[in-house]
Amino acid sequence: MFVIRRKLIAIRKEILDTLFPIHCISCKKYGDWVCRDCLEKIPVDIPQFCPICKRSVTPDGKTCFECRKKYIIDGVLVSSAYKSNGEKTLLAKIVHYYKYRFISELNIYLGEILKKSLLNSSLPLPDAIVPVPLHSRRLRWRGFNQSEMLCYYLASRIAPGLEISVLKNALIRKKYTIPQMKIKNRRQRERNLKGVFLMERKFISGIKGKNILLVDDIATTGSTLFECAKVLKKKGAKKVYGIVLARE
Ligand SMILES: [Zn+2]
Ligand SMILES: [Zn+2]
Repeated sequence: MFVIRRKLIAIRKEILDTLFPIHCISCKKYGDWVCRDCLEKIPVDIPQFCPICKRSVTPDGKTCFECRKKYIIDGVLVSSAYKSNGEKTLLAKIVHYYKYRFISELNIYLGEILKKSLLNSSLPLPDAIVPVPLHSRRLRWRGFNQSEMLCYYLASRIAPGLEISVLKNALIRKKYTIPQMKIKNRRQRERNLKGVFLMERKFISGIKGKNILLVDDIATTGSTLFECAKVLKKKGAKKVYGIVLARE
């Protein structure tokens, strides 16, 4: 049964490839959404800053001493750049195709970038990975949770042979909020998210005393990650580190 299903998937892919040939988003070479050469060129060793004040250069994007007094996220690792010389980078373009043209297959390229930057850092492997949740209305619109797919990619590849769990519904977004990108002011962004995330009781044992890696695609001010981290810490997580593809 499984073999037949796999064959059918392969045939379907072949038909789609013939009807809609895929070309590299960057160099237009035939065969892949992002060819190996272009993917290799995306830098993952960019300078890292404190995610709160964004001024202090800190190792792996750890929260600086001053900001630690007010915020409880341990740090945010930013994999690569969103803009370079005022222009959107290839990474930013891939994210756009992924989120707004709904090409879910792009998660493998983006997942690879997250993986590379995480393994490039000196952060310890997480005990569990948690995606930033989408509101159910947003999930229906997109058809997939972009952060969740990235979590599964990371979980299965950062430590071969080791099972890292993805707690996909650990956090729930209970209110539908205005997209953060539409709000300019940081205070308002924080207010917009107050009390938005909840954790179901059954997940508490999975995060208590654990090092959690929180995954999102793009961070703007970081308020979403900070708010999620607050909930995770309140429920007993030992450390909460965020990882994002880029900061807008
Ligand atoms: Zn290319
Ligand atoms: Zn700081």
